[in-house]
Amino acid sequence: MMIVTSSTLLILSLSCYISTTTAFVPHHIAPKWGKVNLYESPPKSPGVLEETNFDDVNLARVLGLQRVKKMLRKYKRQRNASETTSLPPPVVAVAAIPATPETIATVATTATTTKSPPLKMIISGAPASGKGTQCEIIKENFNVVHLSTGDMLRAAVAAQTDVGKLAKEYMDSGKLVPDDVIIGVVKDRLAMSDCTQNGWLLDGFPRTPAQAEALAASGISPDCFLFLNVPDSILVERVVGRRTDPVTGKIYHMTFSPPDDEEILGRLEQRSDDTEEKVKVRLEQFYANVDAVKGSYKDIAVDINGADKPDVVAGKVKEAIELSLAAAV
Ligand code: AMP
Repeated sequence: MMIVTSSTLLILSLSCYISTTTAFVPHHIAPKWGKVNLYESPPKSPGVLEETNFDDVNLARVLGLQRVKKMLRKYKRQRNASETTSLPPPVVAVAAIPATPETIATVATTATTTKSPPLKMIISGAPASGKGTQCEIIKENFNVVHLSTGDMLRAAVAAQTDVGKLAKEYMDSGKLVPDDVIIGVVKDRLAMSDCTQNGWLLDGFPRTPAQAEALAASGISPDCFLFLNVPDSILVERVVGRRTDPVTGKIYHMTFSPPDDEEILGRLEQRSDDTEEKVKVRLEQFYANVDAVKGSYKDIAVDINGADKPDVVAGKVKEAIELSLAAAV
């Protein structure tokens, strides 16, 4: 689990760890030794190892923290496997990049010119933790398809589809819609071409361990799991004051961000589940599942303080996504 506010510290300590003990570089950026085999020593060329100096190379920053972490995990797996199968221990120094301007340029070019696959992201947090606001900003910045299961279900209720008819009574009471109803809807949506081409941002799904398992079973693995942390007292205050403009879809708050325009003020609507009574049920449902859902994504989860101002949160969210992007290169 990574806390964004301490990401710089993490990167520094990780790069120190790498530079003093182990350096991992994928084979496409290890031109001197070609393909890397963890169980064979690289050919020793006098001068290469001796000249190796990692002090100026921050691999976590150049390759992306998540990618370096993946490499560390892979190494640990191989080391554990070798311990249990009594294979010779893997070579610790897989490849070394002398910190010359040339090699640094090679690594940086590899990281920035390789076309990254479409981003797959999940944003999670309690009701009114600010997911909707952040999703708007993420969509602008990264051009992904925003899929809010709450919005999809509300649309289904309004259109009186079979799913909508089934979901309505659960939603009205603040309860979660049954897994088998929502899982099919999400899987079908993720398979559509806009999602497969542009990437996606899932908002409000998965909300239960069964939903997370269903995604994994379909081979859908996100690059990034963003979690907005907000204390309950703030959440309740946000929920009860929240209003939506049915014309623009814009969300206002009667205390923190009321509209200036009288006409807009007059047409604002309150969601039927945005009451103090129903938010308690929604929070109970949230806390009953949150640990298990987060646990499914612990390798890619990023905790962000959602109690900060929206632009501060947006900065941290962007930083976290960019790290994941670098890792996906
Ligand atoms: P939201 O707009 O995300 O707060 O969702 C509104 C309501 O839709 C929730 O209180 C649930 O009743 C339902 N809902 C949204 N997403 C899910 C989900 N992934 N699983 C089950 N129910 C959901």
